[in-house]
Amino acid sequence: APTQIPIAPNPDIPQQHQAQQVQAASRKRSVQDFQFGNRIGEGSYSTVFKATDIQNKKLYAIKVLSKKHIVKEKKIKYVNIEKTTLNRLGRHPGIVTLYYTFQDDASLYFVIDIAEYGELLTIIRKLGSLSEDCSKYYMKQIIDAVDFMHSKGIIHRDLKPENILVNTDMKIMITDFGAAKILDLDPQGNIIDKSSTNDESLDKGSFVGTAEYVSPELLKFNKCGFECDLWAIGCIIYQFFVGLPPFKGKTEFLTFEKIVNLQYQWPNYYIPSTVKNLVDNLLKLEPKERLTIKQVESHNWFGNFNWDDKNLIWLTQPPKLE
Ligand code: ATP
Repeated sequence: APTQIPIAPNPDIPQQHQAQQVQAASRKRSVQDFQFGNRIGEGSYSTVFKATDIQNKKLYAIKVLSKKHIVKEKKIKYVNIEKTTLNRLGRHPGIVTLYYTFQDDASLYFVIDIAEYGELLTIIRKLGSLSEDCSKYYMKQIIDAVDFMHSKGIIHRDLKPENILVNTDMKIMITDFGAAKILDLDPQGNIIDKSSTNDESLDKGSFVGTAEYVSPELLKFNKCGFECDLWAIGCIIYQFFVGLPPFKGKTEFLTFEKIVNLQYQWPNYYIPSTVKNLVDNLLKLEPKERLTIKQVESHNWFGNFNWDDKNLIWLTQPPKLE
């Protein structure tokens, strides 16, 4: 049986589910509990290491954030958002689990699931594009994970193949919640105001690097609701088939211009018309005209797929990578 993993008591989890956790969390973890291995990667204000829990030998990724750097770069808010979202989301196969957080004088440590295959972007780049089978296989997992986070009142706002990690069993895990929007929940866990998504601006600082998946309403009106994640899903499906995202200019400015003018083309070679239909209905400038996550789930491309059968999504054999 899997080891019981302690997580600090979480205000977002209903009381009855916390008892187990409190019991297990009786001992706060620290750097001494882990044997640090190779560096896996580097972010703009973090370094990620492989690490083994000395007691149970379980392998994790530990994200180490330099306090000095975070303060200097004014990233405290984003680090807190990441921690709060991951705690609220708890455990879902398609989202990295945050098991422990601790700190010492110099650093903050986030102990998370390790994704040994790295980023989905690397896989797409290696293969050029993905087969229809592979695209559908990964997209089912991405959609199930996004549906779950939306149901918990979390809008990711920075979905892209770099933020989708892949495990050794070829299952995806969404990461990088630093730009997420956290909606208020009532005591029963229902989202209080689904429309309260334009009350706070998303500063440019949270979009380091690529701008290709940003929704037009964010660029034009600084507004970003659940629909902006669906825009990004449209961009990602396009990229699975074409190899590159639909909106890509020579500069960030030119990319933005293409996005707000909906300038994208399908290549001449064969792409199934159901796929084109799905993407075209996600890449709608007007957020209200965009397919919702439920409409995506019932789109023809997925046939009559039973989204309630989680084993079909998460325990199915991966198709040959091609
Ligand atoms: P930025 O903060 O600049 O947006 P980032 O989000 O990629 O960068 P990190 O989240 O610190 O920064 O990740 C740094 C690198 O480590 C990335 O290349 C990422 O693919 C890799 N990485 C992050 N988390 C994991 C994980 N859980 N398992 C495996 N690799 C990971």
